[in-house]
Formats: sequence, structure tokens, C-alpha cells
Amino acid sequence: MRFTIVGFLAAHNGQQILQFFSKYSKPTRYTLIAPAIVGVLASLLATCASGGVGQGAGTQRSRVQRRGAGKPGEAVLTWRGPPGSDRIVPRGCDRLMSLTKQQALEMYQSDDLIGIGMEADALRRKLHPEGVVTYIIDRNINYTNFCTEYCTFCAFYRPLKGPRAKEGYILDFETIYEKIRETVELGGTGVLMQGGLDPDLKIDWHEQLLRGIKQRFPKIHLHCYSASEIIAVAEYSGLTIRDTILRLRDAGLDSIPGGGAEILDDEVRYKIARLKCLTDDWLNVHRTAHQIGMRTTATMMFGVGEKHEHRINHFQRLYELQEETGGFTAFIPWTFQPAHTALGGRHWEEATAVEYLKNLAISRLYLSNFKNVQSSWVTQGLKVCQLGLRFGGNDVGSVMLEENVVRAAGVSNCTTEEELRRIIRDAGFRPAQRDTLYRTYFLN
Ligand code: SF4
Repeated sequence: MRFTIVGFLAAHNGQQILQFFSKYSKPTRYTLIAPAIVGVLASLLATCASGGVGQGAGTQRSRVQRRGAGKPGEAVLTWRGPPGSDRIVPRGCDRLMSLTKQQALEMYQSDDLIGIGMEADALRRKLHPEGVVTYIIDRNINYTNFCTEYCTFCAFYRPLKGPRAKEGYILDFETIYEKIRETVELGGTGVLMQGGLDPDLKIDWHEQLLRGIKQRFPKIHLHCYSASEIIAVAEYSGLTIRDTILRLRDAGLDSIPGGGAEILDDEVRYKIARLKCLTDDWLNVHRTAHQIGMRTTATMMFGVGEKHEHRINHFQRLYELQEETGGFTAFIPWTFQPAHTALGGRHWEEATAVEYLKNLAISRLYLSNFKNVQSSWVTQGLKVCQLGLRFGGNDVGSVMLEENVVRAAGVSNCTTEEELRRIIRDAGFRPAQRDTLYRTYFLN
């Protein structure tokens, strides 16, 4: 077998078989440091994308396509356009479109990580041909950790009553202003502010806070309140979702983060967060925000015991809403961090780097109507985040001057702007600072 392969490769490359054999037939062991692993993976992806060793001229089909090809009537991805084109469209369809559920399931079941990454990278290049990877300088502020929802995956909240209530807090406005002042001084352009659900904090409290911030820092972008917080504030204040968002907007809210999505499939939500808003409720908040002209992001926290089908349902619901409104700016997936959580228990098997990268790539392909997909350093660390830029990610999120929720689950990765720019550059991209809405590039 070895001779057959060596003979084929030698003939293919116009070399003497013995010369080729001595070069390639001996087992070789490499010890790769992290940057080398990144380089090897990037090189593999580039090789595959350009036709690669062993592919004949004119063969621009992906491994995903080869898997699906030959099954009558099945929609498969195909390369459209001239050889080398990176446009992915389903057969018989002229526009950029997502995977089918079946294709996504096949990808999850496949061990062809590089092939899936290559597909996602091709779509990322199509959507971002300029070769720029973005980041933002902002800060997460958690105005309270009191919460009534008891989500089993959350290490951050404290109940309103009982022994642990004494660990709860509500930040006073001056403390929040001070955090924002620091953020602005450090070059930050936005604040992501979220908290637990506390029935004492009704719409007036939030309006006063937002107005106070905007009076002092009129240029800061306020990206605040997950869907579950908005639903809770509406309920505590006797308002509709629409009126709640309108009042918050009039007080200074600029956009809404995608927190609280977890897995948008009620079968999973019932198991991990019985009290939290359901899938339709979460989508309804985002739909309402989009309808009044406010942009939002979408997230996914996976690795909570869900099946691949649940993740695909999550993608499908997001895809549909994005088709309806076009209001999502980005998709941001991350992995469940089990430490100090009820769900995590003692021996929870956390999602691995391979699972993270595969999920990132499949999300990139499925959510083809989302312009931006974020690779996470907060849960994955900088090295996996960097790899994610070749698995569909075009953004590394925030320098994050403060983060409390993931830290509460025992994960404390940290970085600086310079470090983020370095990993972006080393992955072959141009780093650029953006604003919260992914609109303005600070080409520094
Ligand atoms: S995830 Fe959010 S809603 Fe759930 S317990 Fe934690 S703070 Fe409360």
C-alpha cells in the first residue's frame, strides 16, 4: 500500500520513485508549539481551498459535497462560478443560503474537521473579502447579581433570600458611572450592561440609570439588557414588551445583546432553565426590537447536554428571524463553563476545542444571512479563538475591560488590545477596531 501511494505521488510530481520514497515514506514525528499548529491548520485550509494535493484540475468540490453527492434528490453544497470561486449556494438556488438541517447534522456527525472549517472559511471570505478581523474595546457591567430564575448553568446569580443572599449586590449609579468613566479613558466605545432579574428594579430605575449615563457620556454606546431582563422589567412594570423597549430606547438604550438564548429549543430550556423565558419569548423580544429599528445580537451557549438536533433548531429559528427582519448584527457562540454551577456537578464533560471549532464552523455556514460570527477567547482562550478565525469567525469580540459571569464559573482568561491584534495578525488578517454595531472601523 505504501509503495502504491508513494508511486502515485512520485508520478504525480514527476519525481524518481526512490527519491520520493526516501523523502515521504518514513514516519516522522513533530513536536509542534501552538503557533506552529495554527500555521499547519492555516496551511491545510489554504491548500484545500486552492485545490490541494491529490485533487485534479477543475475539481473545486468540497469534502462536504462529496459526502452528500450521489444520494438522489438530496440538496448538496456546490461551488458555483469559475474554479476557485468561493460562493456556496445550494443546488438549484441562486442566492447565498444556509445549510439544510440534514447537511448540518451530517457535519456534526463527521470527523472531517478541516473540511468543515474549509467550508466555513470559504463563506467567511465571501462575506469579508477584505481580510479584516475586528474587535471592540468595551466593558461588561453587571448591575446586579440578584436573580429569581435559578438557571442551572449559572454560577453568577445570588437568590433574593436565604444564606447566599448576603453575597448579592446592586451597584449604585455612581459606581456604574465610574466604571464607564474608566472605560472611556481606556479608549472604550461601548458598555454591555446586564444583570439578574430583580423585581425591585422596575422600568423607572433603568430609565434613570440610562439617562444618567447618557448625560455624562453621550458618545458611549449602550448595549444592554438580555431578552429575559426586558421581559422581566415589562412584567414588573405592567408594560408590553414593545413599550418597555421604546421607553428604554428613549432613555438611552442603543442596542440589545443576545444573552439568555442558551439553546433556543424548549426541550432543552425546560431542563436547564425551567423558569427562564421560552424560545418564542426570546425571539419575540428581538423581533420587537428589530421592528422598531433597534439592532441586536444572537448568542448560543452549548455543551449543556443538548443534542445536535437542538443546536440545529436554534440555528433555524435565528435564520428565520434574520430573514424576516435582518436586525441581527452578529452571532456569538460559546461553551458552557461548568465550574460552580448546579448543572456542572462533579464530572461534567466540557465541550472540547474540536467541538467548539466544529460548532463555530457549522454556525457560520448555517447562518449565512448573518454578516458576523464571533470567535470567543473568553471561554476558549486566545489560541483556540485564533484558530476560530479559520473556522468561520471574523471577529474576536471585546478586549473586555471587565467580565464577571464567566469568571464566576472559574474561567479567567484575559487579554489586551495588543494581544488581540497580534493573534489576528498572526492568523493572516488585518486587525481593526469596530463599534458595537460592527459599523465603524477604526483603522488604527
Ligand atoms: S443566567 Fe441570568 S437569568 Fe439565569 S440565573 Fe443567571 S443571572 Fe439569572
